[in-house]
Amino acid sequence: MNSDERGAASLETVLLHLDRRRDADGAVHAPVHPSVPYGHPDTEALIAVFQQSRPGFTYARQTNPTNAALEAKVSLLEGARDSVVFATGMGAISATFFSLLAQGSHVVCSRHVFGNTSSLLRSFERFGVAVDFVDATSAGTVEAALRPATRLVFVETIANPGTEVADLEGIGALCRERGVLFVVDNSLTTPALVQPGRFGAGLVVNSLTKGFGGHGAAMGGAISDTGCHDWAHDPGVDPLYRTGDPAKFGLTQIRRKGVRDCGASLRAEDAHRLAVGAETLHLRVERASANALALARWLERRPEVASVRYPGLESHPQHERARRLFGNRFGQLLSFSFRPDHAFAPRLDRLRQVVLATHLWDARTLAIPVAHTIFAELGEVGRKAAGIDDGLIRLSIGLENPEDLIADFAQAFDAAAEALA
Ligand SMILES: *Cc1c(COP(=O)(O)O)cnc(C)c1O
Repeated sequence: MNSDERGAASLETVLLHLDRRRDADGAVHAPVHPSVPYGHPDTEALIAVFQQSRPGFTYARQTNPTNAALEAKVSLLEGARDSVVFATGMGAISATFFSLLAQGSHVVCSRHVFGNTSSLLRSFERFGVAVDFVDATSAGTVEAALRPATRLVFVETIANPGTEVADLEGIGALCRERGVLFVVDNSLTTPALVQPGRFGAGLVVNSLTKGFGGHGAAMGGAISDTGCHDWAHDPGVDPLYRTGDPAKFGLTQIRRKGVRDCGASLRAEDAHRLAVGAETLHLRVERASANALALARWLERRPEVASVRYPGLESHPQHERARRLFGNRFGQLLSFSFRPDHAFAPRLDRLRQVVLATHLWDARTLAIPVAHTIFAELGEVGRKAAGIDDGLIRLSIGLENPEDLIADFAQAFDAAAEALA
């Protein structure tokens, strides 16, 4: 869609009409295409589509019209020039690393990164990729780690579970100055809170499983090319993909080597569910952020609680930065630690509405003690270095009525205190 068609409408409004404007019958959703092969009227057309001199589809592992409609929505929300979708967020991240890194490449990654992402990078170390994990809350530590072989800098907007907010402005300026690809995982914030491309991120990752889907009913991932990165001078681009418009080099390589060769292809049925979820993204972000801030303030006053980590709290170390980047809404990730003499199990076990589960951006509020579950593999020493104590609880705040949400924690904590007294 060009800017004339969009007019002055905001992104969440434009999103609601994107499919209808492309459909001859005015259907408000793109159709779900189950087809694996796509037939062409003659050999010339078949060849043209394969050689990309004509738009069209070839085989469902590469893409299909339903996924293409979702890609348009992700690009719209990220303010990106194009996006590629995957079966999962990890599919998107692993395809990006696989597409752009080679033996001898160096990566600078936030040390507060999603556990599966750091585990993945450890696997790449086996193939001769060097990785430095640094504190991404300051651009200075990233700068000190850069080497001539640094191919990309990878950070998350808000880290899980510690809620550290990366220095997107500083690292973005640094990467622009050095010509290094800046990759930002926006899963914890979603483009409804921040478009990392505005701070110099060349590629933006979204686990669509999280905020876009929003209901815990489908998995997906996306890589968006914001247009910030100079692909023409990026040594990670294979000569095979250095044809035509240099702005397309990076995503073409990720489409070919990442989706086509790795095969983490999104199913059309899931693309449809994620696209429906995206229609309410902005609304849900408002509600979840308001709920999270209310609960964070309540938890801060409880005697059982030693500390609360939420970027919306004035006590958060990067609160001012979070306000600048996210504009007064701080997302749904909230962590808190019980005091060491207050066992978490008797308290969590008494929650009635809150679900004991791992996931983020679900419609329901979820709670998980992280040391013994998602960070168990890290070991005691690794957890200590990452600032994860045994009483740390991660919450993914949902869309409940805020009074009901706080009442559930209040009754659980009070009942446990009474039983343990
Ligand atoms: C969940 C998550 C991922 C992985 O997404 P999946 O869709 O579960 O594969 C990547 N990055 C972050 C920050 C996440 O929270």
